[in-house]
Amino acid sequence: MRLIKKFISYYRPHRKLFFIDMLCAFLVAACDLIYPIIARNITNKYINLPENTAVRTIVIWALVLLGIYIVKALLSFVIQYWGHVMGARMQGDMRRDMFRRLQKLPISFFDKNRTGTIMSRMINDLMDVSELAHHGPENLFLSSLMLIGAFIVLSTISLPLTLIIFCIVPVMVTYAIITRKNLTNAFKRTREQTAEINAAVETSVSGIRVTRSYTNEERETETFDVQNRKFVKIRSGAFKYMGIFQSGMTFFNDLMYLVGIAAGGIFYVKGKITSGDLIAYLLYITMFLKPINTIVQLYQQLQEGLTGLARFDEVMSQEEEKDTEGAVDLSNPKGDISFENVSFRYDSGSQRLIINNLSMHIPSGRTVALVGPSGGGKTTLCNLIPRFYDIEDGTIRIDGHDIRDLTLGSLRRSVGTVAQDVFLFNGTIEDNIAFGDPDATHEQIVEAAKKANIHDYIMSLEDGYQSNVGERGLKLSGGQKQRISIARIFLKNPPILILDEATSALDNATEMLIQESLNKLAKGRTCLVVAHRLSTVKNADEIIVLDRNGVVERGTHDELIDKGGMYSELYKYQFRE
Ligand code: ADP
Ligand code: MG
Repeated sequence: MRLIKKFISYYRPHRKLFFIDMLCAFLVAACDLIYPIIARNITNKYINLPENTAVRTIVIWALVLLGIYIVKALLSFVIQYWGHVMGARMQGDMRRDMFRRLQKLPISFFDKNRTGTIMSRMINDLMDVSELAHHGPENLFLSSLMLIGAFIVLSTISLPLTLIIFCIVPVMVTYAIITRKNLTNAFKRTREQTAEINAAVETSVSGIRVTRSYTNEERETETFDVQNRKFVKIRSGAFKYMGIFQSGMTFFNDLMYLVGIAAGGIFYVKGKITSGDLIAYLLYITMFLKPINTIVQLYQQLQEGLTGLARFDEVMSQEEEKDTEGAVDLSNPKGDISFENVSFRYDSGSQRLIINNLSMHIPSGRTVALVGPSGGGKTTLCNLIPRFYDIEDGTIRIDGHDIRDLTLGSLRRSVGTVAQDVFLFNGTIEDNIAFGDPDATHEQIVEAAKKANIHDYIMSLEDGYQSNVGERGLKLSGGQKQRISIARIFLKNPPILILDEATSALDNATEMLIQESLNKLAKGRTCLVVAHRLSTVKNADEIIVLDRNGVVERGTHDELIDKGGMYSELYKYQFRE
């Protein structure tokens, strides 16, 4: 019910179009109902007039019909064109709302939902909804009018004959709904399998370089073939149901003519109806078939549309990320960070604690390093500061404010992260750097690029700052992408800097170059550094060694080396040469 209400609310901005559409549907139905009446009059009355008058009357009525048909054509155009436009606009509105919602959903939503699924909601499901939105009411209205109108007109001629013919309608509709259900299910499975095929193609194409280097083309092809054969099988099954449905419907159609001509013939012979009436009956039978088929189709559209609507609502009813009530802006942030007995897990419930009762303090402008085996929770910890996830226990403070009492916007503006893998958006280099500050001027962007040691490279490109980075930055090397992300942060200029294995994926020579710009970037900011190359964390004010069980040891480089624990082991291992 709530769903329907929500759905109806999307009609509201387009109600003018909706009523125009309905009015046209009404008039089209009226036009259609007139033809058999005219045909009946011609056969019943006019052919008995003297020849001249008869011809004239027939021609006049033919012209009237022509006029009606021209009007009907215009009305149909309005329904086809503006009806679909209304559907498209509603779809556009829903997609806009969904996209806005997605932009605001917590990160945990994206942990649970695959990109492919979200996309299919955004595109396919909304397509189904909009088809229902515009065809639903219009078809229901038009078809009911036609059926009821035809029934009324025919009953005035002969009620018994009308009832006999209409007997077939419920049988036909029941048959249609039952077989259509199988058909709908089969097509649903086809669609799911299509999604699988899409996913298979997507991963395979994006992993094509890996496939080539392992020469696994054969295996990939086989895996794909399995999916593809499954698709053919499912689709063939669907066509079986389509055959059952279509042939059955054709049979009932024919049956209706048969009953019409047989029963009508008998009624005519017995003098209960005239020849004109008989013609009217046969013409109206042709006219039932269309609305009946439409109503059956509508039943399927309704199911698909409602499914799509439910899936749309699943996203729309997700809680957005919101500022806590009374949240204040973090003004003039200094970047003093403290963790007080912080505990966190991804799934409240069964999962073990990833961060267990951790306390630390990074005074403004100082550096703390996190070291430890992978899976120890270092990245997780970094994600807690900008509140990508909320902690279970304890408090995280920035400049003394609990971060939950700060507005998300001001909090996130004060934190800059350089991670191992850099995400670049499709577009130019300039756009990607400007992501750090959309209001930046070209000069500021160049300035940032210079600080990040990437300016010279950019200038060596044919299109300079306007060069396209390719899909996800495909056309740039890892080091170049990393430098663009550093330039972004120079522009953003946050007081807090998080470096999460920023240089881990790079070779030594590139790392050295990047380290230089990172040092420049770190100057005057509070830094949280995660690195597995210990040379980069030596100068940190505090080093915290984390493993799966929590903090193993902490202290300065010298203290930890003296202690001879895990850190000194790691350090010796890395510098054994
Ligand atoms: P590190 O950066 O130290 O290698 P992470 O913080 O990435 O470690 O991961 C710590 C633990 O949390 C791992 O066991 C990992 O499987 C789990 N984890 C990481 N991200 C998620 C997530 N989004 N949802 C659930 N579990 C996660
Ligand atoms: Mg990590």
